[in-house]
Formats: sequence, C-alpha cells, structure tokens
Amino acid sequence: MGFLSKLFGQADQGYSLVDERPDILQCCVNETLMPRWRGPEVMEDDQNALGFVCQKCGREFGHDRVHDRRVIAS
Ligand SMILES: [Zn+2]
Repeated sequence: MGFLSKLFGQADQGYSLVDERPDILQCCVNETLMPRWRGPEVMEDDQNALGFVCQKCGREFGHDRVHDRRVIAS
C-alpha cells in the first residue's frame, strides 16, 4: 500500500513537471531562438526556416511570432 502510493505519487510528479513549462514571457522572450531548417542546403536565410525553437523549453514559434530570432512579446 505504502509502496504503491509512493509509486503513483512519483508518476503524478512526473506529469506535472511536463506541464509546468516556464511562461513564454518568463522564458522565450529573453532567449535567442534557434531557427529550424528543412535541410542543410537552406540554412542561409531565416525566411526559409520552418520555425524558431526556444532552446530552454523547446517551444516552437512561427514566423508571425518571431522577429530577428526573438519572440514578439505582444
Ligand atoms: Zn522558452
């Protein structure tokens, strides 16, 4: 009994950790985003990037949310 509740408690903790990513305003707006490329041959122009990824939390943003590899905050 004690062992099982301990086990489930740990599982719940794991799930809540996944959901508790930092807020975009606390995280991504302060980071320089990494462009995600279709392939190595198109890595010159940011306009060709598929999206822009925050290295801290892994969120991806589209071109409409990004300017100069930074999240547009508002
Ligand atoms: Zn982030």
